[in-house]
Parts: sequence; C-alpha cells; structure tokens
Amino acid sequence: MLKNIPFEVGPNTSAIHAGEEPDPVTRASAPNIVMSTTFITEADAGFSVEGMSEDAGWTYTRWGNPTVHQLEEKIAALEGAGSAVAFGSGMSAISALLFHTLASGDHAIVSDVAYAALSEMTNEMLPRLGVLISKVNTSDLSAVKNAVTSKTRLIYLETPCNPILRLTDIEAVAGIAHNAGAKLAVDSTFATPAATQPLLLGADYVVHSLTKYLGGHGDALGGIIAGRKEDLAGLRKSTAIRLGGVLSPFNAWLIMRGIATFPLRMRAHAENAAKVAVFLENHPKVTRVIYPGLPSHPQYELACRQMKNFSGMITFQVEDGPSMAKVIAERLRIIHYAVSLGHHRSLIFYLPSEDLLKTSFKLDTQEQQESWKYFAGKGIFRFSVGLEDADDLIRDLEIALK
Ligand SMILES: *Cc1c(COP(=O)(O)O)cnc(C)c1O
Repeated sequence: MLKNIPFEVGPNTSAIHAGEEPDPVTRASAPNIVMSTTFITEADAGFSVEGMSEDAGWTYTRWGNPTVHQLEEKIAALEGAGSAVAFGSGMSAISALLFHTLASGDHAIVSDVAYAALSEMTNEMLPRLGVLISKVNTSDLSAVKNAVTSKTRLIYLETPCNPILRLTDIEAVAGIAHNAGAKLAVDSTFATPAATQPLLLGADYVVHSLTKYLGGHGDALGGIIAGRKEDLAGLRKSTAIRLGGVLSPFNAWLIMRGIATFPLRMRAHAENAAKVAVFLENHPKVTRVIYPGLPSHPQYELACRQMKNFSGMITFQVEDGPSMAKVIAERLRIIHYAVSLGHHRSLIFYLPSEDLLKTSFKLDTQEQQESWKYFAGKGIFRFSVGLEDADDLIRDLEIALK
C-alpha cells in the first residue's frame, strides 16, 4: 500500500504517485530535484554507516538522497518489493548484487546467454576472485538442477534474455534455488514490471537497467535492485555506500518522469511490436521471427503464463544478415540503427551469432550450442519497437528490406 493512500492502487496510480509527496514548504505538486551531496545533521548523529538506521535523516548523497529515494520507492511499489537500491547504471546494479551475494569459494549458476557485460564479467572477473561460476541454459530446468552444488549461493537469470528472447520459468527456478539454500536473482529489464513481477513468483532479487523501458526515453543511464527490506538494507551498505556507483539525483528525476507513463508506454510498445512481428513473419526476405507474443515463439505457452505484456523486443533473421545490416542501416529513415533498447524511438541492431560466442557467451555442452543456434541462427536483428505509428515503422522496414 502506498503512503498516504488508504487503499490498494493499480500500476498506473503507483507509477505516478508511489514515492512522491508534495513538497511541504512550497506545496509543489511535481517532485523537486535535490542535488545537494551533503545534508546538515544533528551533532549526535554519528559518522559510522554501520550504526545508520534505515529511517535516519539524510547525511550524504552516496548514503541516500531524497530524490533517488523517491525513485527507489516507486520501483519497489511496481515490483511488489519491500525496498530498492538505485545505481548509476544497470551494470553497476548487477555488479553490486554479485559482490554483495558472493564470496570466494561460493558457486553461482548464471544464465549462459544474458546481457553481454554480465556474461563477460562472470567469465573473467568473478572466477579471478575465487567465485565458481557455472554457465547454464536456465530455460532447461534439468540443466539448472544438475548444476547445483553444496556451495551454490546464487542463481542469476534473465527472462526474456538479451539478445535471443529465450524465456525462463521463474517460479520453477526459484523452487530449485530455494531447495538448494540459494537465492534467485532475475534481470527483468526486457519484461519490465508491466509483464512480470519476479519477486511475486519467488525470486529474491530483481534487477533492472532503468536505462531501458523504465526510463524509456534514451536520455538517462540508471540501474536498480529490488527485494526484501532486510536484504537491501545490508546491500545498500556493502555496495552503494562502500563501492559507490550510485545514481545522480538528476537522472533519478528524469527516470521518474519516464516511469509516470511507463504502464501506458508498455501497452503501446507491445501493440506496435505485435503488428511489426506479424509483418516481418510474412515478409519473403525474413526467415525467422522471434517474439514472445507470437504463437510461433518456441515458449509461447510460458510467455502467456509469465508475461502480462509481451514487451517491445523482437528478433528476426534474414538470409545474409551482415550485408542486409549495411543496406538497412543506410535506408532506414525512422528506425535508428543503434544499440540499446526500450526507448520511445525504435532502435535496430545486427548481432552476428559467431562473434557473440567468441566475445561473450561460453556454451560448453552440445545442448547449449543447439539451443543458441535454435534462437540465434547465424545472426539476429534485435529490434526494439518504439512508440511511433506502427504503419510508419512497417513502411520504413518495407523500403529498407526491398
Ligand atoms: C542494458 C542492459 C543491462 C545493462 O544496463 P546499463 O544501464 O546499460 O548498464 C543489463 N541487463 C539487460 C538485460 C540490459 O538490456
């Protein structure tokens, strides 16, 4: 329940009102941006973070800031979480989560296909620090079960995963994690809370790159971890405060402005993506389309069960991807040929399959390689369908694919 509202409210109301209170001095309706790094404290407030209580006043912006706090409350409300801690980027949130939950000698199971920087970090940096990592196709429940050891502390997955849109059954993996005494963390950047609330399905932590759908406008990097209040109080101390990597209040304010329209935008993203996906599926030059909202998605049944909104991410394949990428990058007039996703502007980018296997993903078994090939083929166009008119996006693609 939101503060000051005596009844349960829906996601639109939460997106607009959660975390916000009118300024008591000016009565301003919109949130202020508090850029101050320092706050005047009582002489007996103490200096140690260790003794800091969650409801202590503001001291220093790395410890906590009123504007950033509003954003944290908003995300916690949208995810059904006890609290949330914001970071300067999605990767900053992810690395904080891994540093907080894992120590030398621990074992973690990590999605074998996931955001590239996370994959690369868990291939190199964490093993160097003595953390054992198993890369597993988390959509294969028996593979997850088989990877569990007595040292497993964390299972980390993405659904739908970047870039191939393969899904994982969160509830089932939460069961496996908890049986093993491990925690489950879910990167829900592609799904967003409009589709899925991983904590309500049993996950212990949910991570977002706020840079994507939640911010939604391609003008502010940010990241966040949501979960139980008691877990996050410790996490804030060990990571945000001690490792740094916190979010600027200005970015928090921009991202909150984006979140106000987030549930509406997600409906429009999904509606546009569905139209574009059908167009692509019927296009003679397109050999494969993967979109969780299409009955042709290999896990359509799971998508319907786990996603209330199919989001705006599509992948598609053509005969000769690399040369088509050159052609469409030149011809597209509305859709930007660019990385990133989740913006109001449509973005498209070609990802060659072999290159990603060399730089980012470690696929040890034949099953893992087959699953990759099944979703990624020789390469995919990752298409973040924006909020322009669907007919205009289709026209732009029609001309580019000719
Ligand atoms: C973009 C992205 C990230 C990283 O977020 P940044 O804000 O760019 O650091 C993590 N996970 C997923 C699924 C992403 O798409």
